[in-house]
Amino acid sequence: MTNPLGVHALVWTGGWTPEEAELAISSTAKAGYDLIEIPALDPSRIDVADTKARLDAHGLQAGLSLGLTLDTDINSEDPAKVERGRATLMAALDVTRGVGAGYLGGVLFGALAKYPGPTTEQARRNSAAVIKELAQEAAKDNITVGLEFVNRYESNLLNTVQQTLDFLDLIDESNAVVHADVYHMNIEENGFRKPFLLCGDRLGYVHIGESNRGYLGQGTIDFDEVFGALADMDYTGPITFESFSSAVVDPQLSNTLAVWRNLWSDGMDLATHARSFMADGLEQARATRGSRG
Ligand code: MN
Repeated sequence: MTNPLGVHALVWTGGWTPEEAELAISSTAKAGYDLIEIPALDPSRIDVADTKARLDAHGLQAGLSLGLTLDTDINSEDPAKVERGRATLMAALDVTRGVGAGYLGGVLFGALAKYPGPTTEQARRNSAAVIKELAQEAAKDNITVGLEFVNRYESNLLNTVQQTLDFLDLIDESNAVVHADVYHMNIEENGFRKPFLLCGDRLGYVHIGESNRGYLGQGTIDFDEVFGALADMDYTGPITFESFSSAVVDPQLSNTLAVWRNLWSDGMDLATHARSFMADGLEQARATRGSRG
């Protein structure tokens, strides 16, 4: 059993001109990864044919990710915002399909933002209705839709695995899955093992990041527990490294994620280190499978 290992494009570049796409895709391949995650907060900035050709040339898989804004928030009672969010998600799905990717994930269910108050039942229902429609459209091309629950400062709707599983029950589409990110779990869950096991086969995508989103192993995340849980549950889906530094800036995403500090400057050193860290951690966890309780 091996998981496709991925890296987020913001390790390489904050933009997506043909030159930036080439840098990100070729560097991802050179660092030994199977998959690149391409941010699609603005789907229109991605040249679909150009990106697909570069992915094919380097033999890489791709996933697309985004979070909505407060202006395109489907987790809202305002029908105009919900419609704008729906349009953004459908455009992102077009790009996902167009570049030949099999995965669209992130904070698809609402704004990636610090909300001024709690969500409402109507806003939650509006979000679920759009995500159900998105999942049904995505299923036509065998595309998986991942809901990435995030910490309380970045969503008021889905902050935990349990909330995400309950929301997925409401959506009731088999290609809609849990997208778990250990950076967010570290803030909101009591640990890693139980929430991962709770997902079972509804876990479809994993983000690996350190507690400060820098070099793996230099923060406080218990990666033995993380990789142990993934090995014990026989998770075979993608595992993607996510890290952010002020050395590489996407004006929209970096500000939303509060990337104010320079945690690294050499993306290749960071990415090759992370790939070994994840591959070694997973291999070790598989070798000791059954020894954890
Ligand atoms: Mn993430």
